Amino acid sequence: MNFNYYMPVRIFCGRDCLVKNADYISSFGKRAIVVTGKSSAKNGALADVASAFEKAGIKYCVFDRVMPNPTAENVREGGSAARRFGADFVVAAGGGSPMDAAKVIARLAKGDAEDVFSLGGAAAEDVLPMIHIPTTAGTGSEVTPYAILTDRVQETKRNVSSPAFFPRAAFLDGKYLRGIPHDTAVYTAIDAVSHAMEGMLSVRAGALSDTLAKESLHMISSEFSSLTADALTDEGRDRLLYAAALAGMVIANTGTCAVHSMGYSLTYEHGAPHGRANGLLLPDFLAVCEERSPERVGQILGAFGCKNAFGLKELFRPLLGGREQIGDDLLRKYAKRAAANKNISNCIVRFDEEDLFRVLKSAVGK
Ligand code: NAP
Ligand code: ZN
Repeated sequence: MNFNYYMPVRIFCGRDCLVKNADYISSFGKRAIVVTGKSSAKNGALADVASAFEKAGIKYCVFDRVMPNPTAENVREGGSAARRFGADFVVAAGGGSPMDAAKVIARLAKGDAEDVFSLGGAAAEDVLPMIHIPTTAGTGSEVTPYAILTDRVQETKRNVSSPAFFPRAAFLDGKYLRGIPHDTAVYTAIDAVSHAMEGMLSVRAGALSDTLAKESLHMISSEFSSLTADALTDEGRDRLLYAAALAGMVIANTGTCAVHSMGYSLTYEHGAPHGRANGLLLPDFLAVCEERSPERVGQILGAFGCKNAFGLKELFRPLLGGREQIGDDLLRKYAKRAAANKNISNCIVRFDEEDLFRVLKSAVGK
């Protein structure tokens, strides 16, 4: 059995785990910047951070201006807030957008950079320690070394990554997911499904990442009907949050494949939320993989309780709203862009530009 696996994040999981572990947080320093979005942390996470900081005698400021799909300008603004405050560490509370932004802000806290996309590979001593508190059950950013930022110059989303972007700790408490809009809950869960499935199709998949991916898929599948019926219990939210973290641990080691590469164009050009973009593309991507690697795709879909890629498409279809109808010219542009992404060579099934066009056409074509 050959594999190589790395995951340096301490995970606290359970009800009120943040406040119960205020002593642990006090070891991070005396001044913190809390990085969040407009509303995501105002469902209890921010109040718990304040209460833990009060217990631990930590001073803090809040940067609550992270936008969905954060841009370079957005994170630079957060970086200058961190420098002004003299933060010793960063707490991220929110979905993937605030958590990703916080990683780059933790680097910019040590000094500005005109080109934030050049910060991939940042050295550990140049990045402030981080604590992440997810409020969506999807991206798993709390356990990955990736920060996905919107690049307005290259007109796409780009991955800025460094082992130094792994947070030092993550706190998983499903109570923070209570106020989440239903469509966001569904899309983010589909994102986690995509991570687990793409991770299993990666050339870097191994026994350990497969175990995590299958467990993640089983757990999401067992909550899927409650999730889609908007009838999740607190235990169900806990399980989805845990499952999303497992899928994050998968991609932290395997990376993602063509679904994410293609999805960035649907988000950048058409405003599709990240998880919805993946949900539109994943079944058609798997249909091509199914033709070329039926046994592996059978294992993957089986772990989620589906017989084949068509079954997954039928399951997702009613959840994704009106499907985009994009013309061939644009789809060819997106296929070309996706083909240039290094995620493409990460898949055990080879996709050329024509294959990518085929997937895009069948998922969102006119
Ligand atoms: P998000 O962009 O963080 O949040 C989507 C929306 O949901 C925002 O309006 C947010 O509010 C709201 N929201 C979040 N939690 C909430 C809660 N508990 N209650 C009410 N509203 C809530 O969405 P996401 O899907 O979690 O993250 C997507 C981003 O993560 C994308 O940029 C994607 O590329 C990236 N990503 C990163 C990784 C990685 O490994 N780093 C992996 C996959 C995806 P606010 O406006 O207040 O924030
Ligand atoms: Zn994703």
